[in-house]
Amino acid sequence: MDASILNYKVNDNVGDFLSKEKKLYIAGKWVDPDSGKSFDVEDPATGKKIASCSAGNSKDIDLAVKAARKAFDSGVWTDMSNSEKGKIIWKIGDLIDKHNEELAQLESLDNGKPVAVAGAADVPLSSDIFRYMAGWATKIEGNTIPYSCLYTPGAKYHSYTLREPVGVCGQIIPWNFPLLMAAWKIAPALTAGCTIVLKPAEQTPLSALRLTEIIHDAGILPEGVLNVVTGFGEDAGAPLAEHPMVDKVAFTGSTEVGKIITKAASGNLKKVSLELGGKSPTIIFPDADIDAAIAGAASAIFFNHGQCCCAGSRLFAHEKVFDKVSEGIAKIAENIKVGPGMEASTEMGPLVSDEQYQKVAGYIESGKTEGGEVIAGGNYDNSSGGHFVHPTVFAKTNADMTLVKEEIFGPVVCAQPFSDESLEKIANEANNTNFGLAASVWTKDISVAHKMAAKIRAGTVWVNCHNIFDASLPFGGYKESGWGREMGHEVLKNYTEVKAVTVNL
Ligand code: ADP
Repeated sequence: MDASILNYKVNDNVGDFLSKEKKLYIAGKWVDPDSGKSFDVEDPATGKKIASCSAGNSKDIDLAVKAARKAFDSGVWTDMSNSEKGKIIWKIGDLIDKHNEELAQLESLDNGKPVAVAGAADVPLSSDIFRYMAGWATKIEGNTIPYSCLYTPGAKYHSYTLREPVGVCGQIIPWNFPLLMAAWKIAPALTAGCTIVLKPAEQTPLSALRLTEIIHDAGILPEGVLNVVTGFGEDAGAPLAEHPMVDKVAFTGSTEVGKIITKAASGNLKKVSLELGGKSPTIIFPDADIDAAIAGAASAIFFNHGQCCCAGSRLFAHEKVFDKVSEGIAKIAENIKVGPGMEASTEMGPLVSDEQYQKVAGYIESGKTEGGEVIAGGNYDNSSGGHFVHPTVFAKTNADMTLVKEEIFGPVVCAQPFSDESLEKIANEANNTNFGLAASVWTKDISVAHKMAAKIRAGTVWVNCHNIFDASLPFGGYKESGWGREMGHEVLKNYTEVKAVTVNL
């Protein structure tokens, strides 16, 4: 790799990986794409090409699905002892940690996020889900079921359930946490005994490919258990979602594409799990530790440049503390150092792509036009070729404004005050969205905290914190934020079928 393109000193493996040809991974081998074409991968901090990847299409997907089908039907993975499976899954976690530096650099170069954040959050969270799931490999159990069987008096039956792998899984992932989203998908599917075709996002395919290379080089997975096809959504994602030999599709991304995938999956009624968009409220009561709430609310929206499905993008603060809170967040926003993710001093990198930059800039302009008051940021700059948007705080927003209603997926927060209304009214306002992914409530009153947690219609409620994730905690959405849960033992429901067996004794 030409150092003048990267401008940064990188781990040797990163240089080698970027400069070499990146193929598709099908049936345990690196293969050329049917199209013979590749697509460019850029550094969002410069807009310059840093790598190219194979442009997979429906024929490649077909080959990959058939490889996954063959591996599943052969039992090479499913029938392996659960203890052996668990050891392999654990080993993948260890390999991720061993390659922390290079995976963090790839993530930063590809997605734009600060390399220190990738090294401290994305990579260790990715290894941890493998370790957490490794433990479950030996603990997926059914139940014995006592029965009544009213219409066969005197008969004796023994009934029990088996929890079996759902089969071949198509997994389509987004660009905001490329490695972590791959880990959230691969780890539980392997644990349940499934085989996989993974389609990374076209903006950020590098870390998932490098992880696959690391797993391949370790020689720990039987061929066909994990297949990876890079390419665009319509060319590679769509045929995966509709393929008749795929038993289940797991998707993380926009609500719009989630709906398309659901339709595509209906051909063979494959199982579908979706982790989609959000417009999460951060609700600050006047009794809260206000300094902690200000710092927490700022991090809720600005972490990962606001490119989090659970970003705290709607801020509600009680009118008694509204000015202090909004000004406090504005001050933090103004002091955030925006720059290339690979620079050590950078606190917020560029947005992932020009498309995302234009979208977020459009929302900022719509907020200004609709009467929102910009009290921090509001500016964006791509003159260097990078997609930089400054952290932005809008005060004087209301529920009718476009930027309050729609998911922005950028570092833009919309603040609104509330008065001494009932908790019911505050919760109604917070729930006034088609989404239901997450929320945070900031108060010292334990009763208010629990009452609000019950009233919020979202898959996650944080109290006096935001963006707290753990492999053990289920994550997913109510309403248009999705179906099913990622992580925790809940995720295993996405990847298993339940069979009831009844034996006439
Ligand atoms: P975003 O809007 O955040 O860019 P998307 O929802 O468009 O995210 O993309 C998330 C993932 O879905 C990516 O891997 C993308 O390639 C894929 N994708 C996009 N369109 C389709 C589609 N029509 N069918 C299947 N996958 C798609």
